[in-house]
Amino acid sequence: MEPIFSTRPPFATTYISISTVFLKQELRDTITAKEAETETMSIRILTPDVVSKIAAGEVIERPASVVKELVENSLDAGASQISIEVKGGGTNSIRVSDNGAGIPHDEAELAFQRHATSKITDMADLESNTSLGFRGEALPSIAQVAQIELLTRAKDEVSGTYLRLQNGKVIERSVRAHPQGTRVTVSNLFRDVPARLKFLKSSTTENSQISHLVTQYGLAFPEVRFSLIIDGRPTLRTPGGGKIRDVLAEVYGLEAARAMLQIEKTGKEGGLSPAVSGYVSPSSLSRASRNYLSFFVNQRWIQSRLLARAVEKAYEGLLGVGRYPIAVINLSMPPRLVDVNVHPTKREIRFSQEPVVFNTVYGTVHRTLVGTMPVPEIGSSFATASILSREAQSREASLADANLEMALTPPPPKPASASAIPLLRVLGQVASTYIIAEGPDGLYLIDQHAAHERVLFERILSEQAEKRVEVQSLLEPLSVELSPSQEELLKSREEILCQFGFAIEPFGERTYLLRAIPAILAAQGTEEAVKAALDSLEEEASLTKREERIAASLACHGAVRAGQTMSQEEMRELVRQMERADSPRTCPHGRPTMIHLSSGRLEKEFGRA
Ligand code: ADP
Ligand code: MG
Repeated sequence: MEPIFSTRPPFATTYISISTVFLKQELRDTITAKEAETETMSIRILTPDVVSKIAAGEVIERPASVVKELVENSLDAGASQISIEVKGGGTNSIRVSDNGAGIPHDEAELAFQRHATSKITDMADLESNTSLGFRGEALPSIAQVAQIELLTRAKDEVSGTYLRLQNGKVIERSVRAHPQGTRVTVSNLFRDVPARLKFLKSSTTENSQISHLVTQYGLAFPEVRFSLIIDGRPTLRTPGGGKIRDVLAEVYGLEAARAMLQIEKTGKEGGLSPAVSGYVSPSSLSRASRNYLSFFVNQRWIQSRLLARAVEKAYEGLLGVGRYPIAVINLSMPPRLVDVNVHPTKREIRFSQEPVVFNTVYGTVHRTLVGTMPVPEIGSSFATASILSREAQSREASLADANLEMALTPPPPKPASASAIPLLRVLGQVASTYIIAEGPDGLYLIDQHAAHERVLFERILSEQAEKRVEVQSLLEPLSVELSPSQEELLKSREEILCQFGFAIEPFGERTYLLRAIPAILAAQGTEEAVKAALDSLEEEASLTKREERIAASLACHGAVRAGQTMSQEEMRELVRQMERADSPRTCPHGRPTMIHLSSGRLEKEFGRA
């Protein structure tokens, strides 16, 4: 169960402690059974230990939260080099070392006291604050749920300070030599908080979250040299030369980095609308998940549905269904126009001028795309070509779609014969996208891509289950560059990829050689297919779900595209396979594969009935 922070009122302007469903669970585990019996009887004041563990839980949800807080502290300390070492998914140890300002001798203990911060002193500071931390909560919170060692030396000091903490208390202090900067080692995270440990995902998932996180900070701070080592393996290294494109090359591969379009910087720093900079992918480069959208406000990495919508709107009509762009969007704006104090981990923020932000981002990305690409024809919709603006065209297209949907009722579900379809006679193809066919009761319009996806999906799953996957060896092995999180997934889930027909082997830093592929992929977009298959594994899921996800992803890549002309024979073959499919009426993602216009309906429309 994830902590449910959405119980927080969306527009709360100040951060207030709340308990969550999860924390109540944790509380239950923390209070002894005997106490719990009486707990239901009367209101009691919690012991300070329980209170601080609850508060810690809001900031430190999982290993990646520790990495986030420590990295943010290093960045706030002005470090130009930050190295992160993680062991055992972060629960064994996490070590973050930096070459930042360091902590003076006499302040080291203070850093572990709640609400002790060097970053703000009053409310006015909060309004103009640009540091990543400011609540003075992270270190004490981590100290509550793990053992910490701090080794630090401030700029003008001759020797460094070493502190060891257990249960939030300093149990060892000494003077030690250390270069300027800070090294924090967090070990045995959550060992004494069994409720929390129980909710952690596999170390693979935690590692992949950590590398995703470090990737994001790498993109936000291209001037900082990051290195991430997971279980002794160098996983990510950014050059620190100040160029986002160089970081992109490290994390998404050289090819993607070359293709990315630089956003023409817009807006004035300090103005009402944010200054936008960054990179977006051209329409020819896309991904199967939203994980490649990175947003930063004043160099703070944030999650924002508003910004995601703005970017996606700019790509409207340019990407296929279920495809998302890669984007690195930096907004810089006066701190007083953003409230970063609405979420315990500051992952979500609130803009005081949402429409302005939305329009600025949408407009900027849109201009970048249109400026570098031919405007695509609206080939896949039913709208007739028109001389209206592109905007109006797409409005018309969706209207036309809506009208058509009303006129053409989708085939009614037939509970008796499952969802089998009748024998169909292919008449032709419309817009190189739909097959038009006649059945015993009227007309069928079949989405060729969706239909083929369904057919392949079922075939892949049954071949995999029966261990007779058709494999095609590649004469020339194909090299594939993976992102750090894709690499983590590959390491732990290579087996499942094998089962589906991939043969892949390591070849240098995050580069892999593909020696064989599932035969259904023929050779079209193989690299994309491997990446999409890996991305589809990202979320934790049951085994069958995982297999279905891979199958769906492969089916999508292997299937005939919309816009591809098909011969009469190819269409007949596809329809024959559809007739034999188990659930021919929907594609693996649940969208309809066909629309039925019944004879009765036709008669009615033509005034014959
Ligand atoms: P916050 O970041 O909100 O101020 P933290 O608990 O994360 O609170 O850190 C407390 C204080 O410890 C910081 O304000 C800073 O002065 C000091 N500190 C923590 N980490 C570092 C670091 N890596 N380098 C220098 N100072 C640090
Ligand atoms: Mg901090």
